[in-house]
Amino acid sequence: MTMPRFFTLPLPDYSTQKGSYNAAYKWGLPGITCPLCKATWARSGLNYPAVDLSALPVAKKLSKAYLEEDFEEYERLRDQVRPLLPPDYPIETGAMFGPLVGKARGPFSAFIIQAGDVLLVQPDVLTLLQAEGLRGLRGCRTEILFRPKGVPELLDLHIEPRGLLHADCIPKSTPPPCPKCGRHGFSLPKEPILDGASLPQDLDLFRLRNFATVLIVTERFKDVVERFELDGLTFRELPVR
Ligand SMILES: [Zn+2]
Repeated sequence: MTMPRFFTLPLPDYSTQKGSYNAAYKWGLPGITCPLCKATWARSGLNYPAVDLSALPVAKKLSKAYLEEDFEEYERLRDQVRPLLPPDYPIETGAMFGPLVGKARGPFSAFIIQAGDVLLVQPDVLTLLQAEGLRGLRGCRTEILFRPKGVPELLDLHIEPRGLLHADCIPKSTPPPCPKCGRHGFSLPKEPILDGASLPQDLDLFRLRNFATVLIVTERFKDVVERFELDGLTFRELPVR
């Protein structure tokens, strides 16, 4: 049996990517200062574009990025959002929800990966990927104003947090995650390694739970993109241990 191979999507190769956007998620949990570990922070990459907060009484409050000084209020906000997510999904300060709101100018390449942790795709490309049997691809409508008129509206892929960066990537000197706010402060190493036992077998695209800005695709995903010469992405293989 050959070992499955996994690839990350490095930041844009502007020679292959066409078009650009400027947008932010409609809702997000605020930044915090933790009363226990004292860190002021917000996590990047926990984006849940398929999760609609519009029915929540706190939706308006969560529509602005801010620093919540009152940790109990932060917990109240977080706990209102929690039931809208599958129980095992991480939800932390900085988590983002709902559609991207902003502006974009095309024409676009098949994929746009401009922020590292957000992957936009042309609707007919998504249909093709799904028809080729790639699993776990879910396109979400945005509230982006697309220009020029008539250009296909890109979809935002809802990318599940599954799989882990290997524990060897976390420096030994790193304190364990804060029991109060969940912060686990370490930087992404230059040579990331994936934790083989943690990798999902039912998805061809996912993000890492313990480093949510890192998007991972399978070799199947890469093969389809290359076979159909879909532009906008580059791939870098990551070792699995
Ligand atoms: Zn803390």
